[in-house]
Amino acid sequence: QSFQVIAERDERIGAFLTLNEEEARNTARRLDDKLASGQPRGLLFGLPAGIKDNIVTEGLRTTCGSQFLANFNPVYDATVTRKLREADAVTLGKLNMDEFAMGGSNENSSFRPVRNPWDLDRVPGGSSGGSAAAVAAGEAYFALGSDTGGSIRQPASYCGVVGLKPTYGLVSRFGLVAFASSLDQIGPLTKNVEDSAYVLQAIAGHDHMDSTSANVDIPDYLSALTGDVRGLRIAVPKEYMGEGVDPAVKEKILAALKVLEDLGAVWEEVSLPHTEYAVATYYLLASSEASSNLARFDGVRYGTRADHAGSLIDLYHESRSKGFGPEVKRRIMLGTYALSSGYYDAYYLKAQKARTLIKQDFDNVFENYDIIIGPTAPTTAFKLGSQVDDPLTMYLNDILTIPVSLAGVPAISVPCGLADGLPVGLQIIGKAFDESTVLRVAHAYE
Ligand code: GLN
Repeated sequence: QSFQVIAERDERIGAFLTLNEEEARNTARRLDDKLASGQPRGLLFGLPAGIKDNIVTEGLRTTCGSQFLANFNPVYDATVTRKLREADAVTLGKLNMDEFAMGGSNENSSFRPVRNPWDLDRVPGGSSGGSAAAVAAGEAYFALGSDTGGSIRQPASYCGVVGLKPTYGLVSRFGLVAFASSLDQIGPLTKNVEDSAYVLQAIAGHDHMDSTSANVDIPDYLSALTGDVRGLRIAVPKEYMGEGVDPAVKEKILAALKVLEDLGAVWEEVSLPHTEYAVATYYLLASSEASSNLARFDGVRYGTRADHAGSLIDLYHESRSKGFGPEVKRRIMLGTYALSSGYYDAYYLKAQKARTLIKQDFDNVFENYDIIIGPTAPTTAFKLGSQVDDPLTMYLNDILTIPVSLAGVPAISVPCGLADGLPVGLQIIGKAFDESTVLRVAHAYE
């Protein structure tokens, strides 16, 4: 049935890059047998899922949205892929994305752009645009995405679905093709907050295959959904409600705060004073890490290999010139430059220091408040093609999600109404490893 929906809708939307039809039918049969024989059901029993195409799936093509990996079939499963299987979810296929997760509109996919199901002339956001669009269009019941600087939350906001970026380290990155390793996190995109709690429950937890995986106890996220927010102390950063934010978006956020107030929460304006440095800090650090992580795509080990290269250096050069798209090249050059000797102190080290200040802003606010709330993105979904020639404008779409990524704390985007017929996302930001409060507030509001 899911594949029928995909066949009807996906030609227009473009969310899927690869379908897993035969395997999905096998899984469905296996689940039927499980039911018939009375075995216990997994947490996500029978739920049709899409997986972002930078999460490896054994034997199922994984492209990262890149021509470099257009024919790459991984030989193992990511930890989250395995966990979905163990929870009895059914993998429908792999979802379109900006190449190597670099982008905020899905227009950097080297296969095809994804269209926003709310308005086909608009972008779905990115880089997990396929994940958000597939859920919004009813092609998948839920999806996994990855978020380095906003790539789960911003597309969730543009497509009117729920997107959760967990605390850095809560969900294993083993088998997630690395973009910026100190920032990347996998998380769920779902129709509602309860589903988000279910999927998080299934994928969270320590993994010895990921050296940055946190060894923490995983609470029962579902029991956190009490609907009770009485006495909750909400901080609203003035930097998140300032000049650059569309007044129609702001209005929706204020209306959402009123709802929470009526439920017994209180809110006050606060300041995260280093917010203005977040975008520059992020693009330096993320590009530096990317330039190093993407060195593995050398034409020898994976994917694209130049045909007639005369020497090893030519092989690297030609394979990478051919396999990578313009945004990926831009980031590799920026990152390589920032890490070069003589520039390291001025750029990379400086950015690390700024990151610490940005994180301290959050620590300070969380001393007195339970949760931080603001918009997920400054605007609603923009028109396809309207920002492609202007990377700097494109980078600013993430101004409200990037600080959270740099601080490593969890945040969810939940739909909070429409502005001019397009979805607006409310961003709810919590303390590290306090997904329970984030989910509780999102659920109470929803
Ligand atoms: N849009 C941001 C970027 O291009 C964020 C991407 C992400 O979170 N993967 O880097």
